[in-house]
Amino acid sequence: MAMITGRTRGGVEWTPQFAVAIDGRKCIGCGRCYKVCPREVLDLVERGEELMADIDEDDLDDDQMMVMSLKNAADCIGCGSCGRVCPKGCYSYASAEA
Ligand code: SF4
Ligand code: SF4
Repeated sequence: MAMITGRTRGGVEWTPQFAVAIDGRKCIGCGRCYKVCPREVLDLVERGEELMADIDEDDLDDDQMMVMSLKNAADCIGCGSCGRVCPKGCYSYASAEA
């Protein structure tokens, strides 16, 4: 199968790298990625118990009790903005088949 590709305005082909995972163990819930995403892919959710396993709750402030999630992953256009602004390197990307 062919990979999903796009073209720049100048006609050069490029391969979008779609957001496929956010490392909830690194995420501090700062919301920077949410602000720059042009497609409403992201949403803050409660930090689940599995992500609290190695963490002392008293070490977290209110923001850090939340963690970013890929709510609408299928709407991602692979622009990469989220990862560029993330201070913790939470994002993983991959190309996708058409
Ligand atoms: S790659 Fe772009 S569209 Fe996809 S989640 Fe990140 S900011 Fe949103
Ligand atoms: S920018 Fe990074 S650390 Fe901040 S909410 Fe997004 S994924 Fe989490």
